[in-house]
Amino acid sequence: MVGAAIQRRLTWQVAQVSAHVRDTPRCWRISLDVELGAWLPGQHIDVRLTASDGYQAQRSYSIASAPEERTLDLVVERLDDGEVSPYLTDELRAGDAIELRGPIGGYFVWQAGLGGPVQLIAGGSGVAPFLAMLEHHQAAGSDARLSLLYSARAEDDIIARERLDEHAQRAGVEIDITLTREAPDGWKGRIGRVDAAMLAEAVIPASEQPQVFVCGPTAFVEGVAEALVAQGHAPAVVKTERFGG
Ligand SMILES: Cc1cc2nc3c(=O)[nH]c(=O)nc-3n(C[C@H](O)[C@H](O)[C@H](O)COP(=O)(O)OP(=O)(O)OC[C@H]3O[C@@H](n4cnc5c(N)ncnc54)[C@H](O)[C@@H]3O)c2cc1C
Repeated sequence: MVGAAIQRRLTWQVAQVSAHVRDTPRCWRISLDVELGAWLPGQHIDVRLTASDGYQAQRSYSIASAPEERTLDLVVERLDDGEVSPYLTDELRAGDAIELRGPIGGYFVWQAGLGGPVQLIAGGSGVAPFLAMLEHHQAAGSDARLSLLYSARAEDDIIARERLDEHAQRAGVEIDITLTREAPDGWKGRIGRVDAAMLAEAVIPASEQPQVFVCGPTAFVEGVAEALVAQGHAPAVVKTERFGG
């Protein structure tokens, strides 16, 4: 059984794109029909593209939907000078097929059975694995305290805004969004970059021993993790996922 599961993770499979929807000016939500077996919230898949001359490129994408949901969703941010992401956002359409393998990763994972409190900290598209964790928290009926601090450039750049607003209404869930570039009149969330002062104010304190997950561009993740450890969070409970850049 274990051998079969590992084999499935390592084997490239063809997935059908069932939906391809622009969520923000720079991010698209891509739903895939594929038989991956159960995945864990926080895991990712690898996507492989093959050009007509045989050239191949592969990149990792976090799974943004819960294992309880029917489709496997990705949230892909378009990097203008990128090799793979502009294809996934601009060229791919519902009905197309792409190659992927997974689910991958066992470290950057939260399941209801692990309990709380849980502090999630996202920069930009780094919110993707946390969308899976939030959906799973709801689907599993978890009463663990789950708190998300999410940094986006502007209000339009907030990924899955409606779902986040709905999660914010649920008991035990806190959604705290900070805008780094521009905030509209009447914005009730935070303004400014996630720095040590904001972390000290917004994050579940180290004395409550939260499990902490930090995800986003490399510089964001490293700066946040360093500040958290300086604020007394044990390095072993601060789990990080670096998207690159
Ligand atoms: C475990 C894991 C999970 C990931 N999950 C997601 C996800 O859910 N959604 C998502 O959009 N991406 C995710 N990424 C990043 C993704 O794998 C690609 O790196 C990203 O899409 C860029 O690929 P590209 O081919 O378009 O750009 P590349 O051709 O690889 O890079 C183009 C330029 O952009 C820079 N760059 C690369 N990545 C980033 C970045 N994240 N931010 C800023 N600059 C960058 C590079 O240094 C380079 O200068 C994840 C990465 C990892 C390792």
